[in-house]
Amino acid sequence: MLEELYEEIILDHYRRPRNKGKVDPSDIAAHGSNPLCGDEVDISARFQDGRIVELKFDGKGCAICTASASIMTQKLIGKTLPEARQLIGSFLNMMRGETSFGGKEMGDLKALEGVLKFPVRVKCATLAWNTTLQGFQQHTDKQS
Ligand code: ZN
Repeated sequence: MLEELYEEIILDHYRRPRNKGKVDPSDIAAHGSNPLCGDEVDISARFQDGRIVELKFDGKGCAICTASASIMTQKLIGKTLPEARQLIGSFLNMMRGETSFGGKEMGDLKALEGVLKFPVRVKCATLAWNTTLQGFQQHTDKQS
């Protein structure tokens, strides 16, 4: 029952991805790929007063990659850079199996827990997140 619900969340985000496209002009733009599956993702974002006001993803990915990117944009918009980094860090730890999945702030992300059973797909689920982190890093480097 629960698995069906989670599958539904993933399929819903895959069919109707949220925040798909490009932010223009953008403060960050990063590209990531996962050759194991053929996923390609472009992340762009704009900050205002220290918060992420726009965050979009583009590219071609499998259902898990696309759903994960779509959920991620919803989770990160409105957050400050440190808050966003922290959430990304927790998610990546969960996807590495280092910490258990949970916490109210995870919401739809719980749907991705099932991916842990398929280690080859973990990279699909983490691609957009790692790419966003990479974009943040470039942004920080530019400012310092
Ligand atoms: Zn994939």
